[in-house]
Amino acid sequence: MINVILLGPPGAGKGTQARRLVEERGLVQLSTGDMLREAKSSGTEMGRRVAEVMDRGELVTDEIVIGLIAEKLEGATGGGFIFDGFPRTLAQADALSELLVMLGQSLDAVIEMRVDDAALVARITGRFTCGNCGEVYHDQTKPTKAEGVCDVCGSSDLRRRPDDTEEALRTRMLAYYRDTSPLIGYYYAHKKLRVVDGLGSIDAVAADIAKVLDKG
Ligand code: ADP
Ligand code: ADP
Ligand code: ZN
Repeated sequence: MINVILLGPPGAGKGTQARRLVEERGLVQLSTGDMLREAKSSGTEMGRRVAEVMDRGELVTDEIVIGLIAEKLEGATGGGFIFDGFPRTLAQADALSELLVMLGQSLDAVIEMRVDDAALVARITGRFTCGNCGEVYHDQTKPTKAEGVCDVCGSSDLRRRPDDTEEALRTRMLAYYRDTSPLIGYYYAHKKLRVVDGLGSIDAVAADIAKVLDKG
């Protein structure tokens, strides 16, 4: 089973493509954003600590995020992981590589999804998700078929994220360019980097990712 990282700025389409890979290839999606949102809503001490940081659009500490990923990986048998939104710093990238070595796993590819800033703002400000099954929608590019009802599970619990505002997005983009974009060079040097154009339709991007993964 392959292990891949989806790398890209907020709104690039990582979550959308990760869900397709789960469906089409039986991979396991590991989204640190989803894990942190779960912690946030669980009312634990850690949840309270991360809530404010996330809502402002800043990065949660490496220690917390690496801990979450380590917990998931330690209980796992075999590979087949899609890392979505992790790693986001060089320290996280080093920690992941150590964890994979411990599991006897390797990283097959890091897919950089390239999208320009104007498109990101449009994507983030139109995003909403199903609170029940996690399906990701967009007001313009991927509306639900029936108003207010999830296509996949029929739930009417459709939500917008508190950090999907223009202000928090500016902070998130800054964090991406400052702390996360150095990973592009890091994985290029490790010969793992593959670039796809993230500006096409969801199907077109999925086809490009499939090409990259099937070429090995
Ligand atoms: P996006 O749609 O911006 O890619 P995510 O759902 O991946 O959003 O992340 C939402 C927020 O969760 C981030 O802005 C950050 O506060 C926190 N977060 C998620 N993953 C990480 C990570 N690997 N390191 C630090 N903070 C993270
Ligand atoms: P990320 O996980 O990278 O933050 P998402 O997968 O949540 O990104 O996508 C952000 C928003 O853009 C969502 O509303 C999603 O429906 C929409 N979207 C994702 N991929 C595309 C695409 N290729 N074309 C148009 N809209 C897209
Ligand atoms: Zn749903």
